[in-house]
Amino acid sequence: MSLPYGRAFNFSAGPSCLPIEVLEEAKEQLLNYKGTGVSVMEMSHRSKPYEQIIGEAEQDLRTLLGVPEGYKVLFLQGGASLHFSMIPMSFLPEGASADYIVTGSWGKKAVEAAKMVGSANVVYDAKATNYDRTPKLAEVAATPGAAYIHFTSNETIQGVDFFEDPSTPGDWVCDMSSDILSRPVDVSRYAMIYAGAQKNMGPAGAVAVIVSDAFLDKAPASTHPMLDYRLQAENGSMYNTPPCWTVYICGLVYKWLLKTGGLEARAEINRRKAQVIYDAIDGSGGFYKGHAQPANRSWMNLTFTLPDDDTTARFIAEAKANGLAELKGHRSVGGCRASVYNAFPEEGCRVLADFMTDFAQRA
Ligand SMILES: *Cc1c(COP(=O)(O)O)cnc(C)c1O
Repeated sequence: MSLPYGRAFNFSAGPSCLPIEVLEEAKEQLLNYKGTGVSVMEMSHRSKPYEQIIGEAEQDLRTLLGVPEGYKVLFLQGGASLHFSMIPMSFLPEGASADYIVTGSWGKKAVEAAKMVGSANVVYDAKATNYDRTPKLAEVAATPGAAYIHFTSNETIQGVDFFEDPSTPGDWVCDMSSDILSRPVDVSRYAMIYAGAQKNMGPAGAVAVIVSDAFLDKAPASTHPMLDYRLQAENGSMYNTPPCWTVYICGLVYKWLLKTGGLEARAEINRRKAQVIYDAIDGSGGFYKGHAQPANRSWMNLTFTLPDDDTTARFIAEAKANGLAELKGHRSVGGCRASVYNAFPEEGCRVLADFMTDFAQRA
């Protein structure tokens, strides 16, 4: 169970592991990118080679997600967190209100930011059950005339996923930071999708924004330039210097995904990877308890608890000594979290499941 270069099975929730093939390619191109004599970190973003890098990244992301005509695909900055503010600043005009579905920590932060801009209604909140589930999107009573409806497809900290696209009318806005590219989605159902790079796409520093032209038309004619989606779109994500290196690595990850069968194939692998670990949880006679309700169990962030804090600490330390790194749960939830994004090797899921079963028997 040893990985090349002495690397660990890295369950980090983000920034998280990258495909070894991508790291090797970046390493090979590091000092002299395709004969340009410079690295991607050292070239002008207005140069021909860089235009090709960002252009191909955009095109490959469009292909992977099946983005229809009439959508802009942008690479912006500020993390998903900045977009918690930019979205209401652009799309929540005075006198209107926006709806927020809150199924965990990130959705909560999104609505808090919106409330600083204007009127935001929480139309569903899973707080009563400690954020262990999602509603069916069609059953959420949206406010008539809402400027948009926001939800978080996968709550990274709690490990709950909707596993559905919206099917009812309305301008749906989705934070897909931690499950984008983990399975196919129907982009046409959304007004806007955004996702920070550092969970399932690349290093930190970029946010992919997929926004329909019709929705973009609702943004104010002008606002602070760096907070202006319209201006960013008009400038092809290059109003200012883009996060060049991050976009480059994301582009390599998109090519890796395309080469390995795209999102249909990826969904099958992700389902299998998660199942092995959930089976270890469910087969432990109650030693491990999954946090999420079975129907909402994330394929990306698998959250579970052990009988007590001491046992949890021992589990995490022993796992680490066995090359299974970063299993500690987020401080707000406790217990353990195994993040197994696209790049996390399937073998590591089996190794963790075996370790869990063995640990439970010895404990
Ligand atoms: C990580 C994460 C964020 C925050 O991303 P930053 O890049 O730190 O701003 C927001 N939403 C979700 C779902 C996340 O997983």
